[in-house]
Amino acid sequence: MPKIIIAIDGYSSTGKSTVAKRLAEALGYLYVDTGAMYRAVTLYAIENGFVGDGDGIEDFQRLKLQLPKVAVAFRKDPKSNQFQIHLNDKNVEFKIRTLEVSRQVSKIAAIPEVREKLVEQQQKMGVEKGIVMDGRDIGTVVFPDAELKLFMTASAEKRAQRRYKELLERGDEVSYDEVLKNVQERDYLDSTRETSPLRKADDAIVFDNSDMGLEEQFERILDFSHRIIEKRK
Ligand code: C5P
Repeated sequence: MPKIIIAIDGYSSTGKSTVAKRLAEALGYLYVDTGAMYRAVTLYAIENGFVGDGDGIEDFQRLKLQLPKVAVAFRKDPKSNQFQIHLNDKNVEFKIRTLEVSRQVSKIAAIPEVREKLVEQQQKMGVEKGIVMDGRDIGTVVFPDAELKLFMTASAEKRAQRRYKELLERGDEVSYDEVLKNVQERDYLDSTRETSPLRKADDAIVFDNSDMGLEEQFERILDFSHRIIEKRK
């Protein structure tokens, strides 16, 4: 069976990772959450005092110098059997999902040296195809030749509601307004940055899931994937 690359881009909390994970499972493909990689570098920057409310420029210079020492990798968790993100050999899957990391991540993801390092790693993961990767620049920069490209969107309010629920379920103390503000700020920073801004690839299929259930979307996307795979036989 020929293998393809599926690139899923879009705004934060559009359900990209839920759809991508299920798709990977159904096709027997590898799933890669590239947002987790940017979040892990951000966690490193926070833990080492390279970001904060002060003068960010100097801090980012220090982060750039440290980048060769920042090892980001996915390893299979024996309990859940899922790949989880590791930062310098420590599992940080839970720690990277805080609102604090969400607040800083778009600044870190705008640093060209950070992107260069992570994009190179992502491209290596896809050399044998059979991969579903989600992020912001997968169909435009990481895999511009991906066989299937999707672009997911939904209203900021719907997305903030989803994210807010997730954070409450984790036990984090946050307000809906804070989450909505973060979603809007990240949309703005991610789509206006100079290096690899979030944008729809010309050949991507758009999914607005403000009012469509993820189940229905998943079925439609799986159907698209099967058709593309069939054609390549
Ligand atoms: O997907 P998630 O919301 O976890 O991504 C966190 C942040 O990482 C995004 O808001 C964006 O700033 C950055 N990101 C990126 N490029 C990617 C994936 C994520 O810039 N491919």
